[in-house]
Amino acid sequence: MSTRAALPKVCIALGLPTVDKLLEQASKEVAAGESFLEFRLDYLPRPEAGLKAIQDFLGKHPDVSLLATCRRHQNHGKYDGLIEDQIRILDAAIDAGAHAIDVEIETAEKIVARLEPMRAKAHLIVSWHDYEGTPPLEPVLRRMLKVPADGYKVVTTARKPSDAARVLALKKAHPKVPLILLAMSETGFASRVLCNAQGSLYTYAAPNAVEGTASGQVSARLLRQLYRIDKITKAAKVYGVVADPVRHSLSPNVHNRAFQARRLDAVYLPFLVKPAQLKDFLGFCESLPVQGFSVTIPHKQKIIRYLDAVEPLARRIGAVNTVWKKAGKWRGTNTDALAVTKPLSKRIKLNRSTVLLVGNGGAARGAAFALADAGAKVVITGRNADRVRAFAKLCGAEALVRAELKDRKFDALVHATPMGMFPHVNECFFDGDLPADVVFDMVYNPLETELIRRASAQGSAVIPGLEMFLAQAAEQFEIWTGESAPASVMEKAAREALK
Ligand code: NAP
Repeated sequence: MSTRAALPKVCIALGLPTVDKLLEQASKEVAAGESFLEFRLDYLPRPEAGLKAIQDFLGKHPDVSLLATCRRHQNHGKYDGLIEDQIRILDAAIDAGAHAIDVEIETAEKIVARLEPMRAKAHLIVSWHDYEGTPPLEPVLRRMLKVPADGYKVVTTARKPSDAARVLALKKAHPKVPLILLAMSETGFASRVLCNAQGSLYTYAAPNAVEGTASGQVSARLLRQLYRIDKITKAAKVYGVVADPVRHSLSPNVHNRAFQARRLDAVYLPFLVKPAQLKDFLGFCESLPVQGFSVTIPHKQKIIRYLDAVEPLARRIGAVNTVWKKAGKWRGTNTDALAVTKPLSKRIKLNRSTVLLVGNGGAARGAAFALADAGAKVVITGRNADRVRAFAKLCGAEALVRAELKDRKFDALVHATPMGMFPHVNECFFDGDLPADVVFDMVYNPLETELIRRASAQGSAVIPGLEMFLAQAAEQFEIWTGESAPASVMEKAAREALK
């Protein structure tokens, strides 16, 4: 490959403590199909030892593009030497075959003339990092543009969702400047997925098998296969799940696979949004092509105040789990409610049934209103008699304490507490026989809970939590896209993610 060929779109950052480990990992990445690697020479005890490694590696893998970095510790790297030694090493890295070098602005602005001949041989990426936050970026870019370069890398740390949007917006304000834009941290994750589509020269990913070099980095495999960063365009519709924590959500797996199956130019992201950041998140949505999102703990109630229209059942439940944009207005509904009545109505006639609901939290609330709307008689139980009574009064249901359940039998039982959820997999609200012929457990991790296992053993029909999860996700998909949800693809994705 000529040293000046365009750089590929995903760079794998490799920071390892020995040359052997670096080469071993680099070979693994190439075997996994990667073609753009960053060698962090500053991670080696003797960065000079990396030069021969570059030469040997490129001798074996001439099609790989290699970016060499030797960041000084003053600038959050690990290299202890002087600027002149740093530049000597990077120049030697180019001579060893590196196609690009990354020089932090703090060094680059001191040696502009010295960089010019190096730039004739390789791409010069001038980089600026902020490991604490995302300050105003125009002054940063003005400073960087004083150094002639082939790419300007602006990396901040997102403290709130709008930080990631501001970093990406730099490209809109400077369409002609070759930029690499990223906001680190889990809050900034959207920038890692969206930056290429928004015009970044490339994005960074963690190695496929070992840890990355920056916060919020995920593997290249995940970026390509799940988030389809090579496929989505600048016009891609953006969706996601708003939660805190969000890391373990199944929804990105399920919805991205569904978009892929329907060949939609759309992507679904995990949005880490802290309780006080909902308003900021809506600002983020306005500056990117966000068309809708799922809402989960702890935002289901609070989101309502920011919406232009809320469907009546969701308003009565007091919780919204699905938001979409229509004619510039944010609308909300609750697909959890229908996801309770839909699977149940396949098994029983709800308007002639008595349903026992266990729990008095958010999910129980949605279920109680939806079941009552469908004509079922609802009976509520839980561990705290006062809370159960207050909740039952609110939704016109009967309240029972656990001891009163002994002599009663119900057409169906809906369990809406976290009991039995991983890691407490042996927990179950009931001691003896289950008082219903149809048992619905909202818990979906594990796929077969203790409650479902016991229901099956006593011959009751079972509705596992995954069925509810998939029903609410399918309805979300249909609201957002207007297309039928690819049910089997979504189920396969959820099962794979739960493994
Ligand atoms: P939540 O608002 O936190 O409510 C939890 C409820 O469970 C409260 O009534 C709480 O009682 C009760 N509870 C908690 N620990 C308990 C224990 N050890 N013994 C007895 N009761 C206990 O949570 P949520 O949003 O309603 O969710 C409840 C469950 O449903 C979770 O496991 C969630 O993952 C699942 N869920 C599944 C789906 C799906 O799509 N399958 C959708 C929504 C929710 P107190 O009031 O006494 O604290």
